Amino acid sequence: MNRSRTYLDHNATTPLRPEARTAALAAIGEMTGNPSSVHAEGRRARAVVETAREQVARLVNAKPLEVVFTSGATEANAWVIGAGGWSAIFRGAFEHDSVLAPAAASGAQVIEIPTGADGVARLEAIAHRVSSGTDDLGRTVVALQLANNETGVIQPVAQTAAFARENQLSTHTDAVQAAGRVAIDFNALGVDTLSLSGHKLGGLSGIGALVIRDGTRLASFLTGGGQERRRRAGTENVVGITAFGAAAEAAGQDVANAGRLSRLRDRLELGVGEITPTAVFVGATAERLPNTSSIAVPGLAAETVVIRLDLAGIAVSAGAACSSGKVGVSHVLLAMGLGTEIARAAVRVSLGWNTSDADVDAFLRAWNEITAARASRAVA
Ligand code: PMP
Repeated sequence: MNRSRTYLDHNATTPLRPEARTAALAAIGEMTGNPSSVHAEGRRARAVVETAREQVARLVNAKPLEVVFTSGATEANAWVIGAGGWSAIFRGAFEHDSVLAPAAASGAQVIEIPTGADGVARLEAIAHRVSSGTDDLGRTVVALQLANNETGVIQPVAQTAAFARENQLSTHTDAVQAAGRVAIDFNALGVDTLSLSGHKLGGLSGIGALVIRDGTRLASFLTGGGQERRRRAGTENVVGITAFGAAAEAAGQDVANAGRLSRLRDRLELGVGEITPTAVFVGATAERLPNTSSIAVPGLAAETVVIRLDLAGIAVSAGAACSSGKVGVSHVLLAMGLGTEIARAAVRVSLGWNTSDADVDAFLRAWNEITAARASRAVA
């Protein structure tokens, strides 16, 4: 990676980890077989896929047979939410578009779980709706992400799943942003399904997984082949899968070291607070991922900050600019009850495995210059 740049946009995509790069290059260089073929070449490709399945399963404490590889978390979310045959879907107000859109298109009754000012889902709303009778809801799923991509706020997923189980509801969690940053235990969470994305862990993009609890009823999404135990047809993306497995293993080791990231993030926030005392750190009162900071300075438009930081060699995002060029008011921040002034000002800074103290220093230097230029203009 170009070290004259400071990349602080790990929630959009994380730079490829060296372990994933090595695994991918080995697969590109040596792999000739189709994992479904019975010959030696096929068996070798199969072994690569199954090793990666074990690595991904280990990251979230699931069984390997519960891991189904998909083309990414968008597909995994679309599968569960859009093709689950639900008659009702409870979902967080702050979910990613890949949950919101298939829910809206599914024909199911969609019930939004409201958000508190801290960014945490208000579970009473589900309890209230359920206690007024589930008979009219039918087959129901509760979709609640593990951590938010814009603010890093962590949601009470285990508590939700326990309540859902008692009331015969299914639970899905989008664990894309939490994976590799905080420990995830699929069993302890008690959800039925969980989605993961390779490129947020330091693997390649275009690969992900849906973790499906053993025994859970879920129709195949893609049919027309026996791959993935007939649950997801299509010849496996062997290169993507092996890089995903290697990234999952490396990211799992980093989780134990999450204090390193939160120390860097806290130093960054402290510095920003000193330079711009009016800065608001969105979601900072809740439990957050160690790597994410959503910073809003009232009156300072996020797009302007992102462009100026980019010119200064720093990559960050305005709100949830996962899909490039998308500049709108964030539904996540509005759901927290923040006004449009703050929502339009929020800049997302997200750290990761290769972030160092020097990156934080570079960010703070640029932040100082950008905000000082604004202050002198205001005086002039
Ligand atoms: N869910 C969340 C919370 C995300 O941040 C993203 C990526 N922006 C996705 C799902 C989609 O993942 P993928 O890019 O693998 O389709």
